[in-house]
Amino acid sequence: MQHTLIHPRLTRAVVTGAAGFIGSHLVDALLANGTTVTGVDRRDPRTDQGAAANLAGALDHPGFTFVTADLRTCPLTALFLQADAVFHLAALPGVRDSWGKRFAEYTASNVFATERVLAACEDVRVPRLVYASSSSVYGTTGGGATDEGRTPNPESPYAVSKLAGEQLCLAHAGKAGSTITAVALRLFTVYGPRQRPDMLIGRALAAALGGPTLDLFGDGRQSRDFTYVGDVVSAAVAAATTAIGTTVLNIGAGVSTSVLDVLDAVEELSGHPVPVNRQPVQAGDVETTLADRSRAADLLGWKPRTALPQGIARQLTHQSGDSPQPVRA
Ligand code: NAD
Repeated sequence: MQHTLIHPRLTRAVVTGAAGFIGSHLVDALLANGTTVTGVDRRDPRTDQGAAANLAGALDHPGFTFVTADLRTCPLTALFLQADAVFHLAALPGVRDSWGKRFAEYTASNVFATERVLAACEDVRVPRLVYASSSSVYGTTGGGATDEGRTPNPESPYAVSKLAGEQLCLAHAGKAGSTITAVALRLFTVYGPRQRPDMLIGRALAAALGGPTLDLFGDGRQSRDFTYVGDVVSAAVAAATTAIGTTVLNIGAGVSTSVLDVLDAVEELSGHPVPVNRQPVQAGDVETTLADRSRAADLLGWKPRTALPQGIARQLTHQSGDSPQPVRA
């Protein structure tokens, strides 16, 4: 199996949100390259089956320590001591749930916890923080490729919380005397094996495989820059190991695909129709996302390697239960 090459200086890393979709893949890639990793997540793999499945390859690895802890309250400095990088991925994701009553949880886990992580990094002089931001900070863009210079226009409480986390990174890194550099990665719709069950491709594959009918929000013409998780992992690693200053980078495949085209691809690859249940457009869901990824190419030498059909095929294999293996990066 091919894995991301990691600069030898990344000998110890911390991954928050390690039991989640993207975090668990990042853990696998770091371990495969010899980095000692501490993973932190409030989900406990002893009681949470999803977390256990995500961490199946990591939990027995001698280089891995997993800590079940809530970043809103847990002591952090001891966890971060001697880390070359902290990858801060823990957050409550998802646009739809962030409206209304749950916003207090979003602010606590996405904003307050990010502030705690940054303060702890400063206390023990962690040199590099990589923050999982989101393309949702852009809001409605009019269809063209979006570069990092565009004024953010978050259109959901979730997007506001991710932008606030990003701004906290910049504020801490820019503070007089600060020794931390922060790289915020604006991730565009990530997919691949272990994808969160609330996300489109996973739900479409599940529907094709005989699971629940797919709730299709809107007319399906909305399009997303779908980005394979292995490519996101290689970007995160490059962001931790490349000698750059504090910055914000788009991480997206650079191709926007409509939901209807995704459903066609799922039907073709699985050989089954995707039954759909039409639902109204959801508040905060934008029409199009598309990354201008030239800045990540220039600064990190990063480019995505996995085309959408190839990535969906890997996710299909995983969801069919044939392969619990980590992704190729
Ligand atoms: P995920 O839900 O699978 O993983 C997030 C993990 O963070 C979960 O395991 C959760 O238990 C943990 N967590 C949340 N709050 C916590 C807290 N207070 N203390 C400790 N752990 C906590 O989500 P994901 O899709 O892997 O997303 C990872 C990151 O990437 C998030 O920050 C998300 O906002 C960002 N992101 C994801 C996407 C995407 O398409 N998946 C796109 C843009 C940005």
